[in-house]
Amino acid sequence: MKRYIGVDLGGTNIKVALVDDGHQILIEKSRPTLLPRPAEDVCADIVAAIRDILSQAKLTAKDVCGGGIGCPGTVDGKRGVVSYSNNLAWRDVDLAPMLERAIGCPFYLENDANTAALGEARAGSAKGAESAVIVTLGTGVGSGIVIGGRLHAGYSGTASEFGHMVIVRGGERCTCGREGCLESYASATGLIRMTWEAMRKNANSRLWTLASSREEVNGRTAFEGARLGDETARRVVDLYIDYLACGAINIVNALQPEILSLGGGIAKEGETLLRPLREKVYAEIFGGRGRRYTRIEQCTLGYKAGLIGAAILAEDNAGASR
Ligand SMILES: [Zn+2]
Repeated sequence: MKRYIGVDLGGTNIKVALVDDGHQILIEKSRPTLLPRPAEDVCADIVAAIRDILSQAKLTAKDVCGGGIGCPGTVDGKRGVVSYSNNLAWRDVDLAPMLERAIGCPFYLENDANTAALGEARAGSAKGAESAVIVTLGTGVGSGIVIGGRLHAGYSGTASEFGHMVIVRGGERCTCGREGCLESYASATGLIRMTWEAMRKNANSRLWTLASSREEVNGRTAFEGARLGDETARRVVDLYIDYLACGAINIVNALQPEILSLGGGIAKEGETLLRPLREKVYAEIFGGRGRRYTRIEQCTLGYKAGLIGAAILAEDNAGASR
């Protein structure tokens, strides 16, 4: 059995796992990232967590074939350098080489949305598919493209940013500086804004029984209100799915992947979200649905996708020269 180390470095937590060649997590650990901190300090904590896992498994670095790490921001995967991460407040950090020196096995770096997509595509909802696009509906909208089992990261690593595809020209201001990006509408942040706007206009909505201030509104509020039969909530959910469908249609028109998988908090609504979404997407995609069409599914690995995907990154690259 071959073993790999998978690391998912986030703004809140550092997650580390020992993963086998069947893509099963054998041991995992998590510790707080404690930002803001210099990269060297965060790196020292990652190293400590990896050593912790190896000692628990009674292994040394020689027993693992390599490690992968997913990190938020723009990364240069070829050199293993974090070019820029707004989330971590890092610039030009040679993260993979630092881990390699400290642990003593090869390390490979990718953007965290890409490692999560790789995990979901190879070991989760899109396992066995010839191509997949994974879209995560969380605080922001993350995405990754996997074709023939390989990530499409782009010429310098910044491809597959479907969250920053404009769906409303001159629309809501996005965190990236543009206006009307998919992320501004299809993220939990966007849904919360739309829910609150609808509540302010409808004093009699039952949404007020679920949340009494903007701070109490979350990504589930509108869906819960719709389940209670509230008309205002139902309209918010419809509008949300309209925006998400617009983005999904653009993705399918561009790439027609075998599977489009949705993850993140909002995707936990499952068929409540997926059924109307599929209807809207199949009604509008170029050329119609046809006999062979993109299946739209829910991600199955949750947070583990990032860990397993990072290990797969190592599995694919270990042995190849950087
Ligand atoms: Zn944007």
